[in-house]
Amino acid sequence: MGVMSPSAASPVFVEVAVPLPIDHPFTYRIPSGQETRARVGVRVLVPFGRRKVTGLITALTDGTSLKGREAREVLAFLSAAARECLAPMGEMLRAALPGGLPRREAPSSPRTETVYHAAEGSTDTAWTPKQRMVYAAVLAAGEISAPELSALVPGGGDVARKLAAKGILAATVREKSAAPSAPHLPDSAGTIVPTSHQEAALAKTGVALASGGFAAFVLHGITGSGKTEVYLRAIEQARLTGRQAVYLVPEIALTPQLLGRVRARFGEAAAVLHSGLTRADRALQWRRIRGGEVFLSIGARSAVFSPFSSPGLFIVDEEHDSAYKQEEGIRYQARDLALMRARMEEAVVLLGSATPSAEAIHLAQTGEATLLSLPERIGARNLPEITVVDLKGQTARRGADRYFSPALEEAVEETLSRGEKVMLFLNRRGYAPALTCLDCGTTVHCRNCQVALTFHKQDGVLLCHYCGARETPPERCGACDGHKVAQVGIGTERLVAWSAKRWKEARVARLDSDLGRKRGFYEEVLSRMHSGEVDILVGTQIIAKGHDFPEVTFVGVLLADLSLSFPDFRSAERTFQILTQVSGRAGRGDRPGTVIIQTLSPDHVCIRKAAEHDFHGFMEKELAEREALGYPPFGRMLLLRFWGPKLDRVQAAAGNVAEALSRPLSEAGIVLLGPAPSPIGLVKKKYRYQILLKMPPRFPVGDFFPELLRPLRDVAKKAGVRMEADVDPYNLMV
Ligand code: ADP
Ligand code: ZN
Repeated sequence: MGVMSPSAASPVFVEVAVPLPIDHPFTYRIPSGQETRARVGVRVLVPFGRRKVTGLITALTDGTSLKGREAREVLAFLSAAARECLAPMGEMLRAALPGGLPRREAPSSPRTETVYHAAEGSTDTAWTPKQRMVYAAVLAAGEISAPELSALVPGGGDVARKLAAKGILAATVREKSAAPSAPHLPDSAGTIVPTSHQEAALAKTGVALASGGFAAFVLHGITGSGKTEVYLRAIEQARLTGRQAVYLVPEIALTPQLLGRVRARFGEAAAVLHSGLTRADRALQWRRIRGGEVFLSIGARSAVFSPFSSPGLFIVDEEHDSAYKQEEGIRYQARDLALMRARMEEAVVLLGSATPSAEAIHLAQTGEATLLSLPERIGARNLPEITVVDLKGQTARRGADRYFSPALEEAVEETLSRGEKVMLFLNRRGYAPALTCLDCGTTVHCRNCQVALTFHKQDGVLLCHYCGARETPPERCGACDGHKVAQVGIGTERLVAWSAKRWKEARVARLDSDLGRKRGFYEEVLSRMHSGEVDILVGTQIIAKGHDFPEVTFVGVLLADLSLSFPDFRSAERTFQILTQVSGRAGRGDRPGTVIIQTLSPDHVCIRKAAEHDFHGFMEKELAEREALGYPPFGRMLLLRFWGPKLDRVQAAAGNVAEALSRPLSEAGIVLLGPAPSPIGLVKKKYRYQILLKMPPRFPVGDFFPELLRPLRDVAKKAGVRMEADVDPYNLMV
C-alpha cells in the first residue's frame, strides 16, 4: 500500500451495480470533491454507454469505508438472493429498492412537518367510513402527522388534508423531532396476559433471540389462537437484544387492524412499507430503516430486503400464502429469502400460520425448525362446526339457484334472522366465468390468450383475467351464428346479485381484486364490515385472510372445487388452506360459528380433513404423496418458460434447450420433463412452452445453473424467444 496523506484516506473508486441484466458491478472513479458522499448503499448516477443510469454503490475499492457496514450486508444478501433466484444482480436491486432505483437520491426530509388535531366545534358532515377512521385516529393521538396517519389508515394523510380543508381538522406546523416521539395511542399489551401456550412459544423465541444465533420456528396456531400477540412480543424480545425486526405479511392493504395494533405497541418505531406509499414516502421509510430511526419494518414481500444493520428477527405471517412468491419480473419467494437472510445474519425466523405449508412442516420434521403450537382459540372459543354439502345432487335447480343448496339458504336465513353476519366465499370474480353458445357449445375466448373470457356484468364487458383484454359481449355466437349465448357458471358479482335478490333486507357487499384496484377500497369495505353496516360479505380469497369480525357466525363456501381442479401438485394443499382460513372467520366473537362447504367432490381428502379441522391428518397424507413423487419439499423444482410470437420458434428453442441440458442434468441427477406446451399455451399473443426440472432436495441451484443457462438464454433470444427460469415455482399454469 502506498503512502497515504490524510486526504487520500478516502477511496478513489467505487463499484456500482446497475439495474440492467448484467451480473457484475462496474467501477467508477469518484469525482474529486465528492469523496465524502461516496458510501456503500448510496445511489449514484453513472455514465453507461451513451446514457446515464442510476446505480447503487456496492463497494469502495480503496481506503477505509465510511460507515458502510449496514448496506454492505444487505448487498451480500441481495447478491446471494440473486444467484439463488437465477436473476441478475441489477434486477434483484430493482426488486429490492423502494420503487426501483430513482433517478436521483431523494431530497433529505424536511425539518418541519404538518400535524393534525381536531378542530374546535366540528361541523356536521356526511362521513365516509375512511374519514371516520382517520378522525378517530386523530382524536386518539391528539396530534398526528400525515405520514403517521397514512401508516394507520392507508391514504389517511390525504383524507386528513381534505378534512382540514372542511374545517373538521386543524393543521399546524411543528418542528420535526429528531428522536421519534413516544406513541400516544393506547397500548393493549398492558391488559393482555399471555396464555400458557403463548408463554411456552415466547420462552423458546426469547432464548433463541438472546443467544444471538440462527434459529427457525414454525408457529402453528389455529385461527384466532393469538399468533399476532406472539409476534408482537417476540418483536419486543428482539428489541431488548438491540437488534431489529422485519415483519412480513402477505398483503398489507388487508391488514388495517394489524397496523393499528403495531402502532399501538411500537408507535413511530415502526416503518410501514405498503403499496399505497408514494415513491417519496417509500424512500423516506427506507431511509428511516437504514438510518436506524426505526427498529421494526412491516410490509409485504419486498420488506424482506429492509436495510437494517443487524436484523435479529424475521417474522413471516401466514407463511403458506402464495402472495410471498413474486410472480413478475424477478421471481423470488420472500419466505425462503427470509430464511436465507436469517441464516446469513444469524437471526431468528418465525414462520406462522394456521395451516403451515408442507415446506414449513418438513423443516420442523427434519429438525431444521422448532415447531411451536397454539392449539386453542383465545377465550376458549370453539372452532366452527363444518358441514360438507354434496352439490352433485342439485340437478333440479337451474341457473344460479344450482349453487345454493337448501341447507346453505337456510343457514343464511337463520343467521340473518338472529341479526348476525354472513360471509359467502367463492374463489372466482366476475359475473359468469364463460359465455357459451347453447346450440354449438362454443365458448368465447380471448383473442390474445388461450382462456375463456369472464363476463363482468357491472361493466358490461367480457374480460380476460390473463391479459386484461376487454370485449363487448357478442349477441350471436361467432361460430354458428346462434343467438342462445348463455352466461355459464357463477362468479362473485353474480353471487352478490343473487343474494341481494334473495334477501332483500340484507346489506350485501363484495370484496375481490376487481374492486381492490381502486385505492382505499379494501379499507372502506373492511371498515363498513367492522361497524356492522354489512350483513352479507361476498368475496374471493381476500375475505379469508386474517380478518377478525366477531359478528360473523356463518361462513358459506359456494364451490370448494375451484382451486382443486388446477393441474398443480399444490392444489390440494391450497384448497385445504383456503377452506381452513375462510372457516376460521366464523364464530370469532361470543357466539359459536358454523360453516357449510359445498362441493362436487365431498370425499376428497383435503375437503374431509378441512371439515374435521384435522391439519395433521391432512399434512401426513400430503407429505407422503409428495415424497412418493419427489415433489417439494422432498425435491426442488425449476420451471423454464419459453415464450414468443412464433409457435415454431418457441417450440424449437425449448427443444434446443432440453437437448443441451440433457447430459449435464442427468449427470447431476436431475429429471427433465418436457418440453411441452404450457397448460395455458397462449398468453398475450405469445405462445408458451415449458420444461420442468426435478432436482434432489437442497440442490445448489445458484451454483449450478447460472453459467449453464446464460448461453442458452442468449441463443433463444436471437430467435425471438424469451426464456425465464422460475426456481421453486408456484404457478405451473402459464
Ligand atoms: P391469530 O393471529 O392467531 O388469528 P390474534 O393474535 O389476532 O390471533 O388474536 C385473536 C384475538 O385475541 C385478538 O383480538 C387478540 O387481541 C386477542 N388475544 C390474543 N392473545 C390474547 C391473550 N393472551 N389474552 C386475551 N386476548 C388475547
Ligand atoms: Zn387475454
